[in-house]
Amino acid sequence: MPNRKSKSSNCPVCGNVQTPDFRPFCSKGCRDRDLLKWLGEGYKVPGPPVHDMDEKSRKNEVDSDL
Ligand SMILES: [Zn+2]
Repeated sequence: MPNRKSKSSNCPVCGNVQTPDFRPFCSKGCRDRDLLKWLGEGYKVPGPPVHDMDEKSRKNEVDSDL
């Protein structure tokens, strides 16, 4: 079981090592992408988190396939 100390120093968008200039992201592209993601979610705000439900239903489909 790998236990890396650098767990918190990874870009939350792509998982690469973050750079000081764009912390906590690894690059300007990831920073912009995260910003756009937040803006997109802010515009929609339909109520319950749709992404979470999609992932769960997708997982259930995979599980039933197995
Ligand atoms: Zn990144």
